[in-house]
Amino acid sequence: MSKFLLEKYKNLVPYVPGEQPKDQQYIKLNTNESPFSPCPAVMKAIENEVPKLKLYSDPECKKMRVKLAEVYNVNENQIMLGSGSDEILNYVIMAFAKELVFPDITYGFYKVFADVNNVPYTTIPLKEDFTIGINDYVCSGKMIVIANPNAPTGIALSLDKVEAIIKANPTSIVMIDEAYVDFGGESSVPLVKKYKNLVVTQTFSKSRFMAGARLGFCIADEELIKDLNTLRYSISPYNVNSMTLAAGIATLENEDYTKAKCKEIMENRTYLTKELESLGFEVLPSTTNFVFAKCSKVSGETLYLTLKEKGILVRHFKQERIKEYVRITIGIKENMDALLKAIKEII
Ligand code: PMP
Repeated sequence: MSKFLLEKYKNLVPYVPGEQPKDQQYIKLNTNESPFSPCPAVMKAIENEVPKLKLYSDPECKKMRVKLAEVYNVNENQIMLGSGSDEILNYVIMAFAKELVFPDITYGFYKVFADVNNVPYTTIPLKEDFTIGINDYVCSGKMIVIANPNAPTGIALSLDKVEAIIKANPTSIVMIDEAYVDFGGESSVPLVKKYKNLVVTQTFSKSRFMAGARLGFCIADEELIKDLNTLRYSISPYNVNSMTLAAGIATLENEDYTKAKCKEIMENRTYLTKELESLGFEVLPSTTNFVFAKCSKVSGETLYLTLKEKGILVRHFKQERIKEYVRITIGIKENMDALLKAIKEII
């Protein structure tokens, strides 16, 4: 740490992204990316943007918002885009959170966003079965953030339960992070018409094959979007680059491709779950592109380390309640079989 770092950042503990080791070729099942590449139209769209790179990207992201509005059946003024949904999550917390509340087991970045924005936070324990107890979320003015489906558990909350939480907290913002919703979850986007305190975030990183392009968005009441844009235009008005915007539009014009690939992931998830269960694993019910699983024959850490030695990366978390589990991204069937073979050798 240099002597110049401001006092307020001295204790900041940054987010730790999933490892991306370069020492050998791994089967990467640790960061919930898509195993599929974008469709060919995306390549073409990016190529067409190259000569125009001398110009700034559109700060309004107009074409993309119009297309998204069509797909999600909302008004384009109810949408803001970000460089990944992480950026959006940060803007929403920065804009609206005096205090923040989220589950004890969830996406690790919420805590970091709270810390960097100097927002105090409290965590609410998930129930014994790792589900969210909706009655625990009457938070009198504190902003709530819930990943739905949750990560790393993969468990989804039904729409009526999400709505109950929004209703119970009329004086604060409820942010629903739907990074994984396209793999079988129920989206809260239709509730935006009804509730002015709801922000829904989504990403192109998981179901739309574009993690490396960095594209996310949120849908909320127009007034909230105006507030978020005030911050965005005060920090980074060209936050989404023009190649990413073109790629995003081409992806949305090929929704059939996206849906077919999500279906394949969900089929592979069912396959992996059954196979793991037959090996004695306990697998939490997932509506995401990953499963969270543990086995009494091997600790979470040993499984993670031994799989890594065998060239397969999964994610392990050291947090007490979940340290016996590993989180496994669903890949193509061939990768699932390689994983199962390695697990059989280990146990
Ligand atoms: N929310 C959750 C729950 C996530 O797991 C992730 C991915 N790490 C994100 C948001 C952020 O994704 P991105 O910034 O790539 O859109």
